[in-house]
Amino acid sequence: MSTRPLIGITARTEPGPGHLPLYGIQQTYSHAIRRAGGLPVLLPPLFASGEAAEMVGRLDGLLLSGGGDIAAEQYGGEESAALELVDRERDRSELALVDAALRSGTPLLAICRGIQVLNVALGGTLYADILSQLPGALPHRPAAGQSDEASAHRVEVFPDSRLATILGVGELTVNSFHHQAARQVGEALQVTARAPDGVIEGLEHRTHPFCVGVQWHPEYEVGNCPGMERLFEALVRAAVAVGPQQADVRG
Ligand code: MN
Repeated sequence: MSTRPLIGITARTEPGPGHLPLYGIQQTYSHAIRRAGGLPVLLPPLFASGEAAEMVGRLDGLLLSGGGDIAAEQYGGEESAALELVDRERDRSELALVDAALRSGTPLLAICRGIQVLNVALGGTLYADILSQLPGALPHRPAAGQSDEASAHRVEVFPDSRLATILGVGELTVNSFHHQAARQVGEALQVTARAPDGVIEGLEHRTHPFCVGVQWHPEYEVGNCPGMERLFEALVRAAVAVGPQQADVRG
């Protein structure tokens, strides 16, 4: 009998054939979870809060994937022409999943858009567009026609963090495919990594059993960049250790 933990990966809506939309997400997330010893399962972006709690109750861990921008009204921001690929259904579903995972103590790894969802779920705000709102910032995604490497940058990882323990380094080069970032940090979160321009690249919950977010895409680098697989292994280990619905850390 398998004892591998069940890890839910949030999926998004994509255009499909015959005007029938699809739910899906890049294969790299499932491969990274499987390689780390977890059983991946994709979660469609359609949960209301009660359903989200029901789903999280059956999962051992949750992975928030990357994707389009979060609607500005979710964090009290202003509508902006810079926003891309807003999907309010996905926003609501993922915010509900995060809320349920925070309440139940379910281990959670948040990637790219995911770290932003985590921050907003805890009352934080976002830069809706780094380029226009943070003058002098590094390019955090490649310009049109540039290679993926064009926006890679250094990140400082702060030593008093779970992230530093997982990665085992205080500094590394990461990929960067985002134009939004955490601004004001949400309640109970601590900053665990920053780019040289100050942009937040890591957040984690201070008291939750395992709630770790990174702004880069580790799943894209598994097998390529040493250490990136450790994030998924840490999530899977925490999922085995904690199991579903063990604690209420949110009060
Ligand atoms: Mn970046």
